[in-house]
Amino acid sequence: MLIKTDAVVLKQSKFGEGDRIITLFTKKLGKVQAVSKASGRHKGKYAVGTQLFSYGEFVLFKGRDLFQITQVDLRHSFYSIREDVTKLAYGAYLLELTLAAIGEGQTNNRLFELLINSLQIFSKSKKNMETIIKAYEMKLLYYSGYKPELECCVHCGTSEIGNPRFSSAEGGILCRNCFQQDLYAMKISPVTIRVMQYLITQELEQIAKLMIRTEVMEELNKITRHYIGTHLEKNAFKSLEFLNHIK
Ligand SMILES: [Zn+2]
Repeated sequence: MLIKTDAVVLKQSKFGEGDRIITLFTKKLGKVQAVSKASGRHKGKYAVGTQLFSYGEFVLFKGRDLFQITQVDLRHSFYSIREDVTKLAYGAYLLELTLAAIGEGQTNNRLFELLINSLQIFSKSKKNMETIIKAYEMKLLYYSGYKPELECCVHCGTSEIGNPRFSSAEGGILCRNCFQQDLYAMKISPVTIRVMQYLITQELEQIAKLMIRTEVMEELNKITRHYIGTHLEKNAFKSLEFLNHIK
């Protein structure tokens, strides 16, 4: 069976004699692992289309247990992201986070479009990459069904939140009467709450112009890290370690 679908390369690893296993985020099938053959008459033919970040129309053959990539019509290689070490680190984080959020057979078209848009922005400019990353995290959580409650107390529903705290386990802000519901609830400022709402609702092009103050960014980083760890069950990101190393 042949399946034609738009896809982005999230990961690649070696497999056997020069072949590679490519993990794709496809529009039609969600996350898919496919073999890219390097031997025989097809030698080297699909090398470009199977690099990290490559986006295009893939033709997949469903074999007995694995998919095989039989053709790639490349739309964008996002080559400029691979050329620059900072862009590469931020870009790799987008892929790693996406990999953690999507499942096999689970389509997520809004997340797919968001990934392409984000890669497009990264390929054009190095400005405000950290803000785009934050927007990507918040929107990814939203599109994956983990949008945090930021309007009212997630436990009792009051909008009189006073000095709220953020609870990853409860999935949003807790008012002063409820924050003992979660011993790990974190301090969150009203500015950080507004920034989170802005990141969820606004377009990326608009968000790219936003300047986030250092202390707000620090609080945001702490909260999103904890929230992603709780809901996507992933705490360690190789790309983030690399990013901290080169900063
Ligand atoms: Zn409450």
